[in-house]
Amino acid sequence: KDADHVFEALLNTPAESQTLEEEEVLEERWIKEVVTRSGMKYRWARLAQEKERENRDASRRVLAPASLRPRPPVVTIMGHVDHGKTSLLDALRRSQLVEQEAGGITQHIGAFLVALPTGEQITFLDTPGHAAFTSMRARGANATDIIILVVAADDGVMNQTVESIQHAKNARVPVIVAVNKCDKPQAEPERVARELLEHGVVGEEHGGDVQVIPVSALKGDNLMLLAEATVALAEVLELKADPGGPVEGVVIESRTDRGKGAVASVIVQQGTLRRGCVLVAGRSWAKVRFLFDEQDKALEEAGPSRAVQVVGWKDLPSAGEELLEVESEQRAREVVEWRSYEEEQAQLKEEHKVIQERQQEHQERYQEQRQSTAHLSWRQRKAALYRANRQQAAMRPSEKTEKNQHCLPLIVKGDVDGSVEAILGLLESYDAHDQCQMELVHFGVGEISEKDVNLAETFSGSIYGFNVSASKSILRLAEKKGVQIHLHNIIYKLIDGLKEELSSTLPALL
Ligand code: GDP
Repeated sequence: KDADHVFEALLNTPAESQTLEEEEVLEERWIKEVVTRSGMKYRWARLAQEKERENRDASRRVLAPASLRPRPPVVTIMGHVDHGKTSLLDALRRSQLVEQEAGGITQHIGAFLVALPTGEQITFLDTPGHAAFTSMRARGANATDIIILVVAADDGVMNQTVESIQHAKNARVPVIVAVNKCDKPQAEPERVARELLEHGVVGEEHGGDVQVIPVSALKGDNLMLLAEATVALAEVLELKADPGGPVEGVVIESRTDRGKGAVASVIVQQGTLRRGCVLVAGRSWAKVRFLFDEQDKALEEAGPSRAVQVVGWKDLPSAGEELLEVESEQRAREVVEWRSYEEEQAQLKEEHKVIQERQQEHQERYQEQRQSTAHLSWRQRKAALYRANRQQAAMRPSEKTEKNQHCLPLIVKGDVDGSVEAILGLLESYDAHDQCQMELVHFGVGEISEKDVNLAETFSGSIYGFNVSASKSILRLAEKKGVQIHLHNIIYKLIDGLKEELSSTLPALL
């Protein structure tokens, strides 16, 4: 109770009416409270406290407008399938290449920068579609300032157009409409504008404030107009950031590169990213060794709204994770350790719950069994129980207490989110068709870890890795524990291997 009280006081006291010493005294009291009450280690309590302080400082920082400077908008393109999102992105990217020296090969790093002749800049996120957008939003990282809604002039408003409008509304992100394919003879841009009205998107011609720009991604018509409309909207939005102070941002893509190692594309949201910065994202951290732009040109620094590839990660961070600068490598390790600790606690809790539920189920089944077999002899009762247990075991094959052969518990690891998702998708469809017994125990991005091996041992399962490696010590550990690790670089080979292993376990079922 007292800790809660002190904590409340800390949060609610405005920064300016509290001296630093007062704050520290309060913090120290809070930590002592937590340590005595919950038996938490002092070090953990201290870290939790510091995290809270960072949050407080961050909110105070927003209140210091003197250091804010205008920044370019970050734009996501959305719309119905086949309406030309990819074509528009390509056209915009190409328009940029002409601007700069020829010969640059643009890489897909998740975003690219377009500079207008007037000097203004726009960052386009280049994973179109709302899957990427919503997954980022789900993680609380709202990286987009403006949505360009692409609607084909010959097709009009379709269901994914409506979905996109809904996403924009929910996220409170303003929209610009690009009426695409206006080069087509059957194009009816006026019809599109009318249909949009029905969904609350009111164009300027109809007295609203949404800019509707007719374009052709194919011919490259009116791209400049679209870019200017974007810049104009950005001005109205007064997008600002503090280029000084610690870096904040969001991871938009991550991959393992043959030459560079773990690479994450990030968008800087506050501060200026430089070589030597120490960053934390999720449960990985980096001491920035290099920064590259979308043409693999090395950069000295990247300010707000800039997308860059960051080299120097210890582990691969995931798309959508928040990026924060910390003051030292030591601090970065602590933050990562703290986050892992939190996650493990949550996982343990979850596992505990599952075990309890299963015990409960067992108990109930046993009671039922006893009641329904009360009139039978001891021998008959035992036979019935045995049959029921066998049935149950078939339904829940991975449970360790009911050791069975006809199930394959799986752990899937991949190099990037995308590949893991692809494998899970394939597994799902396979599972549905063939009704074979697979149970996904765990999946994730990154090298095969000791945790994976331990999990596989617990569930008597196998580990499948796509485009990832396993260190010698991990391989030795797996061998010792009798855990199979299968590493593949081609998805269909991985799936084939899996099918083979499945069918070799199936006969035991019969
Ligand atoms: P997405 O699914 O929204 O990414 O759509 P795409 O960019 O893949 O485009 C779908 C199809 O429309 C492709 O065949 C494109 O060549 C075509 N397309 C895209 N933009 C235009 C355009 O401005 N004019 C015409 N005529 N065709 C276009």
